[in-house]
Amino acid sequence: MTSGIIFLLIVVIIGGSSFAHYLRNWYLAQKVKEQYDNKHNAYDAILQQYIPYYRNLDAALRDRFLKRTLIFRATKHFEFVEMEEEDHMSLLISAAAVQLTFGLQHFLMDHFHKIYIMKRDYHYGLFNVPFQGHVSEDGIYLSWNNFLNSYANYSDGDNVGLHEMAHALAYVNFPEHEHAGEDEGFQYRWFKAFTNTGREVFNRMQAGEMNLLGSYAATNYQEFWAVCVENFFERPSSFKIQLPELYDAICKLLNQDLLKQGIFLEPVNDNYSEY
Ligand SMILES: [Zn+2]
Repeated sequence: MTSGIIFLLIVVIIGGSSFAHYLRNWYLAQKVKEQYDNKHNAYDAILQQYIPYYRNLDAALRDRFLKRTLIFRATKHFEFVEMEEEDHMSLLISAAAVQLTFGLQHFLMDHFHKIYIMKRDYHYGLFNVPFQGHVSEDGIYLSWNNFLNSYANYSDGDNVGLHEMAHALAYVNFPEHEHAGEDEGFQYRWFKAFTNTGREVFNRMQAGEMNLLGSYAATNYQEFWAVCVENFFERPSSFKIQLPELYDAICKLLNQDLLKQGIFLEPVNDNYSEY
């Protein structure tokens, strides 16, 4: 009898939570559809203006990018710290995440629910140097002035938006990290495609090798990865010439290559029902 009640309770709890999940998905889908229908042209113009990656896509891929950006944005909570929110801010920040994961099936970085936006460089913890951004258990943090500057100077290999999104993507996928394994597809590619080559270059840099990644990349392996991402997107040609194996490894990991016609290595099927 007792076990029967417990069983019933379990069914109700599981059934209830999946119904809530279904309702939430339905609500998000409606919201995204409404935004897409009503503001498509305005959002397209904003992305074209600020995001060079988006500007260089063909029309079909731009449409896919915009949809993913709206979905990503709808699933996150944006908190503006001591600054006024404007509509384009969360759109552009979402676009940085979508750029990084554009070749991946699993693009929502769903470990993170909160994105904090500060007006400019800020102090964090006991560190003396001001931060432009960081990622921690409770969310992704970005400074707005540095975010904008990074996209305005889009060829110096320095981009705080892409840098922090790279940390966020790795956060749940680094094998040594406690949250590792939440995205198995990515993690598999991480092992296979990136880590062997990446570790080798990183070790050489720690031993003193200089290359286009710059000395900050030798700080630790996490920074190395984030700096790789910045250079992969902002200076793909020089990256490929200087470190061809590492460049190829990142292409495989992210399933995209900016120097290739059509960008993707393998086709990506969008299945929006998963959010
Ligand atoms: Zn970093």
